[in-house]
Amino acid sequence: MNNMVIFGAPGAGKGTHASILAERYDLYHLSTGDRLRQEVASGSPLGKEIQAIMNRGELVDDDTVTKIVNKAIIEDPRGIIFDGFPRTVRQAVVLDLLLQIYHQRLNCVVRIDVPRDELVRRIHERAVISGRHDDTDDAIINRRLDEYENKTFPVIDYYRQNGVLLTVDAAGSIEETRDRIAAAVAGKMTVPMK
Ligand code: AMP
Repeated sequence: MNNMVIFGAPGAGKGTHASILAERYDLYHLSTGDRLRQEVASGSPLGKEIQAIMNRGELVDDDTVTKIVNKAIIEDPRGIIFDGFPRTVRQAVVLDLLLQIYHQRLNCVVRIDVPRDELVRRIHERAVISGRHDDTDDAIINRRLDEYENKTFPVIDYYRQNGVLLTVDAAGSIEETRDRIAAAVAGKMTVPMK
């Protein structure tokens, strides 16, 4: 079974490229952000707590996110493309443990790299269709990017040391990035691309 992580800052295009890769390699696309927004939409007490955190542009606690991921690994028999997870080194360690428990492994981590000013531009562009509160307010956008730089960036070193990191320049168009990712990932998967 193949498993991969799509990794990058808010606005880098993780969701877009995760969808493309899920289709090409028949993977289950797990977006922790989407799962958390579903919990918010349910109106549950947990959803209300999550909403407050997301509206500040901060990260939700590792335990809540880990539970979501564990459930997803159990419920879908395919390999997974993780989108928006892990976002802390602790989450990365937990993911390794979970995969080990289920006798699986990570084939690769695709880091899509985009300069900060372009990230802000893309988030503003996305806000028009996403309707997401955390995409519209500049203070929240900056907080999310700071959270990425402080808490998520160290995950890159974790995966570099594990030898699974692939870094792809993603400053160009979706098509250019798609092709760069395809070239980087090709030799890492055990099935051919569709
Ligand atoms: P995203 O849709 O990936 O941009 O995530 C939106 C928001 O959900 C983030 O700003 C965080 O508040 C929260 N979130 C999503 N994934 C995680 C995660 N792995 N760890 C902590 N918080 C997360």
